[in-house]
Amino acid sequence: MHDAVVIGAGHNGLVAANVLADAGWSVLVVEAEDEPGGAVRSGELIEPGFVNDRHSAFYPLAAASPVFRALGVHIPFKHGPLVLAHPSVDGTTAVLSRDLADTTMGASWREVMEMWARVEPALLRALVTPFPQVRAALMLTLEPGALKLLRLRHEGLADRLLVGNALHSDVPPRTVLGRGFGLLLTALGQRYGFPCVEGGAGRITEVLVERARARGVELRVGERVERIPTARHAVLAAIDVWELARITGRSVRVERDPATVKLDWTLDGPIPWTSEPARRAPVVHLGSERDFVLFGQYSMADPTRSPAGKETAWAYSHVLSAEEIENQVERHAPGFRALVRGRRLEELPPGRVNLGTARWRNELVLRPFHGRPATGIPNVWLASASAHPGGAVHGAAGWIAAHAALRATRSYRPLPQALAR
Ligand SMILES: Cc1cc2nc3c(=O)[nH]c(=O)nc-3n(C[C@H](O)[C@H](O)[C@H](O)COP(=O)(O)OP(=O)(O)OC[C@H]3O[C@@H](n4cnc5c(N)ncnc54)[C@H](O)[C@@H]3O)c2cc1C
Repeated sequence: MHDAVVIGAGHNGLVAANVLADAGWSVLVVEAEDEPGGAVRSGELIEPGFVNDRHSAFYPLAAASPVFRALGVHIPFKHGPLVLAHPSVDGTTAVLSRDLADTTMGASWREVMEMWARVEPALLRALVTPFPQVRAALMLTLEPGALKLLRLRHEGLADRLLVGNALHSDVPPRTVLGRGFGLLLTALGQRYGFPCVEGGAGRITEVLVERARARGVELRVGERVERIPTARHAVLAAIDVWELARITGRSVRVERDPATVKLDWTLDGPIPWTSEPARRAPVVHLGSERDFVLFGQYSMADPTRSPAGKETAWAYSHVLSAEEIENQVERHAPGFRALVRGRRLEELPPGRVNLGTARWRNELVLRPFHGRPATGIPNVWLASASAHPGGAVHGAAGWIAAHAALRATRSYRPLPQALAR
């Protein structure tokens, strides 16, 4: 019998397996699909020679994540000349760049980023701590810049950048939470960029699998868990909360984020954006709340993804159909359709990006199991993006659940220095 069984080999499950193995536990990871990774996978999905990311693709939170730092894994992040561009049909383009001088957030942005640098350690700490985040809350309360950041009002291109970044989540962008989310992604983009991963998103999964295997973790794929397995100390459910409810026969009421239309392309050349900055930014935002498209293009950041002179691209929308997404791109880049060699469409049901919703009614204490990893079933811990802090690739849910399991069996070791700061 293993000390722990992890259900699901998404990145959170793999982070959890690594943390438990570091503590000397024997760990089995069981994955339903034929390969690990969940929403962090890539491959030649359309044609040979072109690598597309299956779901997630750009990683500000992974680049900032204290979890990956503490695990000491090296992820080969790749950046383009700019971080992101948000063109409009009026001919203007909002730009986020790691170079402050190129970011179109207005004159006060430098000062805002200085405030942000003081607040960021508390926010990252809150990311890797379950409810109640006492120390993080205290740090934020003692930092006068924290409230000021949320009260700031932005207009024009700055407002466009913040709204676009808020729309990475399903939170209405002009609410307090939406503004906070927009600011979080904009500030992280300023400091860490929105990098993609050299050779494909699946490299993150490979790095985590290699690290786990080197510590004796056993990984079984192609095996769907149908009931809670037995383990000496703990079972970590790195699966969405509805799947956990299914296999435990319990009921759960958690709101889902909206359905997602996801498109990947292989192209005969770079996208002919009318906006010049959009030709230099791997991430491009198109439209507003009503018709928003999140678009990614790789060759300028990672030329290994496609043959020389060709391109691979990625997009998703919660509001437009596949045809409307292509129309939206064509409007900003006349000639785009003529470059398309191949496309892949995936229609994801509600709940797939965040394994829940990022809205207030599912945050902090309102998350499943009151924002804590204990599920109410003895020694079963929720370790997926359904738990705090939710969707995106940062590994925090797996980290929190694994430490809770270790603490519960008294073999808990204190946070490594990287997190204790
Ligand atoms: C289209 C899309 C685009 C995204 N873009 C980004 C992005 O650019 N940047 C970013 O940071 N985040 C992005 N996200 C969000 C991010 O990818 C996810 O929030 C995150 O990967 C979830 O990780 P997880 O390990 O918690 O769950 P998952 O990745 O969903 O992994 C869960 C795993 O459990 C397995 N499983 C389920 N049930 C069982 C069972 N009964 N038995 C065994 N195994 C089981 C599944 O097969 C899966 O492998 C995106 C998500 C989607 C869907």
